[in-house]
Amino acid sequence: MINESEADWFHLDVMDGRFVPNISYGMSVIAQMKKRAKKTFDVHLMVVDPERYLEDFKKAGADYLTVHYETGYHIHRTLTSIKALGMKAGLAINPHTPVEVVQDIIQEIDLLLVMSINPGFGGQKFLPHTYHKIRQAKEMINGIGTSTLIEIDGGVTLENAGEIVAAGADVLVAGNTVFSSADPKHMIKRLKQAGK
Ligand code: ZN
Repeated sequence: MINESEADWFHLDVMDGRFVPNISYGMSVIAQMKKRAKKTFDVHLMVVDPERYLEDFKKAGADYLTVHYETGYHIHRTLTSIKALGMKAGLAINPHTPVEVVQDIIQEIDLLLVMSINPGFGGQKFLPHTYHKIRQAKEMINGIGTSTLIEIDGGVTLENAGEIVAAGADVLVAGNTVFSSADPKHMIKRLKQAGK
């Protein structure tokens, strides 16, 4: 369905039961998906010590690999390693983490993932403070002149997609909105239109 839809990427949420309460799946499931999928794999690691698994996710098929700012003492080194392995490097920040903390590494990253819910479970409501964070991030990116994409993950719906894009987001992740819909493929099409 996703292959035939207007979706641009697969966004894959990896949860370890430690960084977030929930457990999802790991590299072996992603490697199996990669055999059938025809689009970019955007892998979001919600795991502690993500630097231990970078090569495994590269082998599994990750094109973008995103780690959480909150997980590491040496995020810059982790991001550099992701790029050295030939992947695009993403950095995620939780709702309580201010945008300012990425100021000194924004030029190193391909994707800034701003969490618009607390990570770990689908179906949560979009946190309105996220709009302010998107505008701040956009200003920082434009000011420095990098091409870092801003991605929003959590609580994206048909009602708010337009406003999220208007605030400056480039990539919207939609899980519940798409998969709880009676016609997921059509919902993806409507979300794309709502974001224009
Ligand atoms: Zn995610």
